[in-house]
Amino acid sequence: PVDAAGKIANLLGAKNKPEVVHAVNDVSLGIKQGEVVGLVGESGCGKSTLGRMVAGIYEPTQGQILYQGMDLQGLSRTQRMGANLDIQMIFQDPMASLNPRMRVREIVGEAPLFHQITSKALLDDYVATILQRVGLDPVFMRRYPHQFSGGQRARIGIARALAVNPKFLVCDESVAALDVSIQAQVLNLFMQLRQELNLTYLFISHDLGVVKYLSDRVVIMYLGRVVESAPAAKIFAGPNHPYSQALLENVPTLAHRHKRFSSIKGEIPSPLNPPSGCHFHPRCPKVGPRCKSEVPVLRELEAGHYSACHLNDGGTG
Ligand code: SF4
Ligand code: MG
Repeated sequence: PVDAAGKIANLLGAKNKPEVVHAVNDVSLGIKQGEVVGLVGESGCGKSTLGRMVAGIYEPTQGQILYQGMDLQGLSRTQRMGANLDIQMIFQDPMASLNPRMRVREIVGEAPLFHQITSKALLDDYVATILQRVGLDPVFMRRYPHQFSGGQRARIGIARALAVNPKFLVCDESVAALDVSIQAQVLNLFMQLRQELNLTYLFISHDLGVVKYLSDRVVIMYLGRVVESAPAAKIFAGPNHPYSQALLENVPTLAHRHKRFSSIKGEIPSPLNPPSGCHFHPRCPKVGPRCKSEVPVLRELEAGHYSACHLNDGGTG
């Protein structure tokens, strides 16, 4: 039995993404087994890079990713393969990640066959069970990706991830490409799978409406740093960080997503050359003199609620 799921500590940069020198800096976050953590931020904030490091697609250049207390980079090949199966990633655009020349049976069956989770003789039954789990008719296993709707393809992508019995899903904008009504169905599927399979999720989204719908805890990133982390109810009732406050002034609902982030003045700066001190200072309505030179640290304000803003040190920024 697994009693501690992923913990990510002190991630610094990603060497497989040279165009972003330090996409993620000094991020420290822990995820408990069975938890759904929503990771939110504007594009370029480093949330996808962080997700890919957790899923083992990018290696951090410094720092550690701990899974069940073990440093992923220090594991033996066998242990590492086990951890890589445990942690599966679900991407935004299933069409781009589903081989158009493979039938669903092969798409879903490839990894479990390779890892001897099932056998050729049992493959049809195995794939049928997985398809049913994601709400697809097993007869679909003979078809190709282009024969499905966007929502069905999303389910195929989820089936492929589930086929290796993961414990932890990293979902990167997994419903962003879908129509709103389909989005709700797929989010409900994620919640149902969480119950049935005791899954843990890192759910990455720019969309606060989506994150609000399913997260136990919300982590807000800005230009490669975590600025606030708290139980979802706390974040949505009273965010501490001025960036979080600006995001939440206009929480989009699933039906009004065009409103997102409209309340924040200015453009997001380039992650290649982030502003000094607090990265948010050029856009912050509460900016003070220290903010331009001193990096605010993530402080625990009350149990489980962290925020990185000089205003929490007492006095002004
Ligand atoms: Fe705003 Fe300063 Fe707080 Fe940054 S540290 S969020 S600039 S008040
Ligand atoms: Mg992204």
